[in-house]
Amino acid sequence: MWQLIGQPMVITLLHSSLERGMVAHAYLLVGPPHVGKMTLALNLAQALNCAADTPPCGECASCQKIASANHADVQIIGLTQNMDSAEAKSRVEIGIAQIRQMQHSASLPPFEGRCKVFIIDGAERLSTEAANCLLKTLEEPVGEVIFILLTTNDGLLPATVVSRCQRLKLSPMSANKIEAALNNGWGIELQKANLLARLCHGCLGWAVSAALDDDLFERRARSIDRLLIITDADYEERFAYAAQLAAQFSQSRDSVQEELDLWLDWWRDLLLTKEDCSDIITNIDLEARLIEVARSYSLAQIKAVIGSLQAAGEQLRQNANPRLVMEVLMLDIPRRCISVKYG
Ligand SMILES: [Zn+2]
Repeated sequence: MWQLIGQPMVITLLHSSLERGMVAHAYLLVGPPHVGKMTLALNLAQALNCAADTPPCGECASCQKIASANHADVQIIGLTQNMDSAEAKSRVEIGIAQIRQMQHSASLPPFEGRCKVFIIDGAERLSTEAANCLLKTLEEPVGEVIFILLTTNDGLLPATVVSRCQRLKLSPMSANKIEAALNNGWGIELQKANLLARLCHGCLGWAVSAALDDDLFERRARSIDRLLIITDADYEERFAYAAQLAAQFSQSRDSVQEELDLWLDWWRDLLLTKEDCSDIITNIDLEARLIEVARSYSLAQIKAVIGSLQAAGEQLRQNANPRLVMEVLMLDIPRRCISVKYG
């Protein structure tokens, strides 16, 4: 059984390629974080090595080893593989040494399965040298070896690499489908499933891990409180917060990106509230607060903040100075005009 939910076209295509024995030697899976790229890559690795008549069965020894990351012929290459956590945290690129090591391994025959599978997670983080080195391998396919590149943005990969792969796009699912999947497949109560389905932006993997994360709602509440404090604060406080986020960025890019995504959700919700479209807001449990805050801003102000948040996210992805990006963002956020009663 294919475990990926909500991507019927991709599954149908891969299934028929497998049946016809026409599997590509390199795939590029493109889609937002937690949409299911790794689930699909591991599923494909299972299907290629499965011992059952209807692969991937998910139950044979090979499928189980792959699911638990214990199969000698299935390797994941990414920012955090093969190094201690301190070194991994500071890395921003997948280096050429990792790709050379992979190439050496790819040159050897399968150890226990039928097919070697190399999954490159976060392929947009390949260094230029690493991407060029990988290109040589993709240009000269060898039998029994499949490469699966996962990326959130294939625009950041060299066109030469993209053109050597079969590109499969994984799209976000609708909130209704995610809510149903969380409720039916994971037994999550409807109210929580409904909120998670909106917070996850179509990415089921995020919703599932969030459902198991007891601290998530507390962290979210703290982040939203901080957001409201900062929007009311003077520049000194805002710059202190910018410095804090910039320091955090050097430790964990993802946590800062998460914070910015939360801000973006909040400001989009303010826009939707202002335009009387509250039925499609993300933070459904905070509707009353959104209505109150939306009164303090004009539509143009809200749109400008959304633009600034998107620009900040893009600049960080392109390795701009995080302190500078955050300070500019803090300058761009208007203070709330809280109505003052006279007399
Ligand atoms: Zn199997």
